[in-house]
Amino acid sequence: MQADKGPLQGKYMVEPKPREQLCDYRDCAVIVAHPDDETLWTGGTILMHPEAQWTVVTICRRSDEERAEKFERALEQLNATGVMGDLDDGPEQRPLDADEVEETILSLLSSDKFDLIVTHGLWGEYTRHLRHEETSRAVMSLFRHRKLSARRLWVFAYEDGGGRYLPRPVRDAEILLRLSDEVWQRKYDIITKVYGFGADSFEAKIAGRVEAFNTMKPRS
Ligand SMILES: [Zn+2]
Repeated sequence: MQADKGPLQGKYMVEPKPREQLCDYRDCAVIVAHPDDETLWTGGTILMHPEAQWTVVTICRRSDEERAEKFERALEQLNATGVMGDLDDGPEQRPLDADEVEETILSLLSSDKFDLIVTHGLWGEYTRHLRHEETSRAVMSLFRHRKLSARRLWVFAYEDGGGRYLPRPVRDAEILLRLSDEVWQRKYDIITKVYGFGADSFEAKIAGRVEAFNTMKPRS
């Protein structure tokens, strides 16, 4: 029988498979393109696991003082530490040199060893932001070549039908975490009150109640 391909509704539910219980991971790094990506795609997961130590790295926007200040306040709300890089983030999305992205990520991280690393999906989360894709490729390459090690790599699993609808969790994502109302509200408040995106903004609309990931293990 054909699986239902309709939009994800509130009814589906998912728990991480037992082997992927996040509470097994103490030292967690979130590596993203922009300040706000940590909250949009995995903010609820961070909030649900305050027992872990979260480090957030963004590859862009350090010299954007306003955004940097908001990022600091978002990190306080997430009970995380973080650091920003300053790679080009112009509206023309000029492709970045892959080595430069990898070197930037390694230079920003205080360690090359984590229990869990979380980053963008290879195709980004929507159509289209090149920086998301470049960040994902760089982290995956570092992970594959063991320049960055972790027991697991989680990549965001969202899609927007090639731009036809707002980003939503990929239906067959390996991990789909439903946020409680309280956690979702805290996530939403970071997007709207800390980052200052209006209720009608793209960001506010996509700050979802379900966070989705696919996972990878190091090669043995
Ligand atoms: Zn972004």
